[in-house]
Amino acid sequence: MGLRPSHAGALLRSHYAAGAGAGPNGRQFPPALARRLDDERTRRASAIAARQVAQDGTTKLLLRLGDGHTVESVMMPDFREDRAAGCLSSQVGCAMGCDFCATAKTGFERNLTSGEIVEQFLALRAEALAAGRRLQTIVFMGMGEPMLNLDNVLASIDRMARNELGALGFRQVTVSTVGIVSGIDALARSGMNVHLAVSLHAPDDPTRARLLPAGRRFGVRDILEAADRYQATTGRPVSLQYCLLGGVNDSAAQADELAALLGGRRMHVNLLRYNPTGISLRGEAYAPASEEATEAFVARLRSRAVVAHIRRPRGREIDAACGQLRRRA
Ligand code: SF4
Repeated sequence: MGLRPSHAGALLRSHYAAGAGAGPNGRQFPPALARRLDDERTRRASAIAARQVAQDGTTKLLLRLGDGHTVESVMMPDFREDRAAGCLSSQVGCAMGCDFCATAKTGFERNLTSGEIVEQFLALRAEALAAGRRLQTIVFMGMGEPMLNLDNVLASIDRMARNELGALGFRQVTVSTVGIVSGIDALARSGMNVHLAVSLHAPDDPTRARLLPAGRRFGVRDILEAADRYQATTGRPVSLQYCLLGGVNDSAAQADELAALLGGRRMHVNLLRYNPTGISLRGEAYAPASEEATEAFVARLRSRAVVAHIRRPRGREIDAACGQLRRRA
């Protein structure tokens, strides 16, 4: 287009870091060229195929990709009224087969490209801006296992978070995994220094293998040791996600076992009550842990000096669990 290489940085930064609708700086680019660049850069490979907004402002998008596949992304308003968080997908479908997950029911279709991941970010940022908020943090907790598409996930994080380009910082990005040990080590080696979240969901291997078939490949102790290495390399405390299912993983004994595992470790436990997604892959009808069991579980962890929080459910009245909107559509 006749631009000098030195223009590339300004152009990319205007694309990734500036708010939606902000064109390349007219003082750096002649107006006609600025208009042309703006047309080019706002061209997207995906389109919004469905949009659901919950009463709390949580907005779920179904993006239709260039080849017709669809993925979900979610904008979640923060309790601070000018901020929001985004949840991104890393794959179309997922091969992990977690028994309680709506996405698992459709199986794995393909990896997302880095561009398709960044487009989710741009779409969520536009949603946040329209709601008067700034998209402040990103979590890879949507469809797919990020560690199985790590190259593209890392390339997308680079664009969203590298200082010279992105709108975020690396500290504002969280990558979540079911516990792919090799992926945790690769993420540590990448030097990206993002936050790591591990979906543990049980303190023992048999319960974990029942909920997460991937758990058969990597035991709880192996996963926690990988998390230790991640913390040692990056200096970032790892958070452990624990979805409480009634009568499955919410007992006092399981809370004690989890506390014993975490003794001496500087990890945070995020507890979430299960969001029902219908009959599971293996034909189970899981139910959320009761309020009482949830409170007792967190109290037991805290009494043993484990840092634990109960995550607020978001967008319950829309298809809030990952994969639900896509299945319905
Ligand atoms: S919970 Fe995550 S990793 Fe497990 S099947 Fe669903 S999308 Fe995949």
